[in-house]
Amino acid sequence: MKRISLAIALCSVCALSFSQAKVAVDTISRGNLSVVIFDDKTWQYIEIQPDLKSATIDTTDIKSENWVTTSVYAQNPDYARTKDASVIDFGGAASSFPAKGKLVSGFGMRSGKMHTGIDIALNSGDAVVAAFDGIVRFAGWSGSKYGNAVVVRHYNGLETVYAHLDDVKCKVNQKVNAGETIGVGGKTSNHLHFETRLKDNAFDPEIVFNAQTGALVADRIPIYASNFDYMKFVDNSQYHVVKSGDTLSAIARKYHVSVKQICDLNGIKESSILSIGKRLKLRP
Ligand SMILES: [Zn+2]
Repeated sequence: MKRISLAIALCSVCALSFSQAKVAVDTISRGNLSVVIFDDKTWQYIEIQPDLKSATIDTTDIKSENWVTTSVYAQNPDYARTKDASVIDFGGAASSFPAKGKLVSGFGMRSGKMHTGIDIALNSGDAVVAAFDGIVRFAGWSGSKYGNAVVVRHYNGLETVYAHLDDVKCKVNQKVNAGETIGVGGKTSNHLHFETRLKDNAFDPEIVFNAQTGALVADRIPIYASNFDYMKFVDNSQYHVVKSGDTLSAIARKYHVSVKQICDLNGIKESSILSIGKRLKLRP
């Protein structure tokens, strides 16, 4: 505890030193504290204050940005989009834990792979419900990784993902309320895989929900760049959408797969020219 209060006290000091010509070369973050390493090999603690402005989301039309109804991802997970801390504001809205069962697996590394959600036990025929009010962005078969899945975008910009369902009980563009049944599970898989995402980047759903009681942790929840630190090291994405300037070797490096694997999976050659917007499969 002492160490933490010291760190906070140092903050006001480092705010002054930022005016000097040091360049930050790296940061290591834990919760709302960051260690900033400068190019002159000095370092300082800073306390991150979530930028409340960045959390302002146009609630008049949540479908205005990247409303993709054909994939569980609207874009691709991208660590570059995690830099601004933000606050998810539930504004007193109704919430519902997505299933009745017990938490069987948490968010984090699991057998060498990143598990980007939590698993909640289901019995065959159990209902899966929307966590908050929102609009269904994706509903149906999504591929082998998520199986039958539903993605709901909520009015504060949060997206929730419900995967490994037996049956989808909602349609794309349908408005749903917190607690409304959107799917049924438990037969194909004995659990619901549940994710919380901001701009396609998954973070630990237990930041939002107490998985023991099913209650919302708080009405305003700060999300820090450090909540996405795992993305620096692991990217388990199944697909990459080609952007201007992309090369096969850079894509392979980013997702920790081989160039050969990308070529084989997509029927292209190493010398092929990548067309912008093309969806490349990364994993079998
Ligand atoms: Zn899972």
